Amino acid sequence: MSGKKQVNDLAIFGGIPVFATAKSTSNLLQPDFERFMEYSDLFLQAQRYIDQGPAVQLLERRLAEFHGVSYCITFCSGFWALALTIAALVIPGKREVIMPSLTYRRMPDIVAWLGLIPHFCEVDSETLSVSAATVAACINENTALILAPHPIVNCCDVGGLLQLAEDRKLPLVFDSVESVYESTAEGKVGGQGHAEAFSLHACKLINGFGGGYVTTQDTLLANQLISLRHYGMDESGNVVLAHGMNASMNDMHAAMALASLDDVERQVLRNQKRYRVYQSKLAHVPGLRLVTFDEQQATAYKNIVVELLDDWPLSREETIRILNAERILARAYYAPPLHCKSMEFAFIAPPLPVTEWLADRFMNLPCGHLVSNEDIGHITDILAFIVAQAEPISTLLRSQVDS
Ligand SMILES: *Cc1c(COP(=O)(O)O)cnc(C)c1O
Repeated sequence: MSGKKQVNDLAIFGGIPVFATAKSTSNLLQPDFERFMEYSDLFLQAQRYIDQGPAVQLLERRLAEFHGVSYCITFCSGFWALALTIAALVIPGKREVIMPSLTYRRMPDIVAWLGLIPHFCEVDSETLSVSAATVAACINENTALILAPHPIVNCCDVGGLLQLAEDRKLPLVFDSVESVYESTAEGKVGGQGHAEAFSLHACKLINGFGGGYVTTQDTLLANQLISLRHYGMDESGNVVLAHGMNASMNDMHAAMALASLDDVERQVLRNQKRYRVYQSKLAHVPGLRLVTFDEQQATAYKNIVVELLDDWPLSREETIRILNAERILARAYYAPPLHCKSMEFAFIAPPLPVTEWLADRFMNLPCGHLVSNEDIGHITDILAFIVAQAEPISTLLRSQVDS
């Protein structure tokens, strides 16, 4: 039980928060520490601390195998993995990169850093992500590349996008940060399009104390990326590629990522259990719809996203404020949409009515390594309490705002 009997027991009105330590939407996986030390021994023994030592090399082999692809190239972050992949693949002379507005908040910065222009497209209301149709509507003579991020739950329209990219002869990069373990009708995530990019940030599925990687089947691209992450130099040390930088992963990160990767099957089982608890408890909370995983395909069951339906009694922001006061760090789903933010650089945004309609309907609930099944019971109890006491809660919240 969450211990809330009356409205004043809510922390936002002065009650004691349900959790002593915050429960967040970050994965914060802590793999077996002994494994991390064993993998660290590889670079300590070899006395290789930078420039692709033995742990980085092993990680690249293991990840290529995991995704069933020819090449995995690691980077110091997902950001630089994406930026350098886009730099390598864009059609020369063209400037626009098509991407959704309802996505990761740094996506347009990556594109703008390269001197390119984000062109925001609509999302599909079912997948909450891009589809062939929403991207096709934005293609013009200045299109340089399609950047397709998978949504937080399930995958985008991989088959449709592959066909579109082929028909229109456009490079296609998937941001697969949220879909490391997933598969679609087209096969495992990692081997689709020209390249797929991933992150090893501590909030993602595989924790490498930060880091990123790209998977591809393309030998030329793999070689370009290896050069780009190392100043854009060729083997004789001449800078031959623009946008090259120092973006390599170091071995300590790789050792952590390897230990995390060793744990991934067990993690998926733990995530599945958490998801089942949310599923059964949320079935009794009216006004909320759990966004369900497509269990016909492989999934890591990592993120918990709910839709606030029309009969949910409070706004999403009010709901999040109440939860946050309880140290339940629920978050708005990719809000605000990127085309509604002010930016320091040029972007293109056609009217995006579906995005704007979806924009305040979804939120992420706590998940990951530090959230127990018992915690989930407390979280869903609070949500049930909010609906049951909606009227007095609204009155009190509004009087707080007024005073
Ligand atoms: C976190 C994230 C990134 C960036 O990864 P970093 O390693 O944090 O730079 C890119 N895309 C998506 C969808 C993300 O969630």
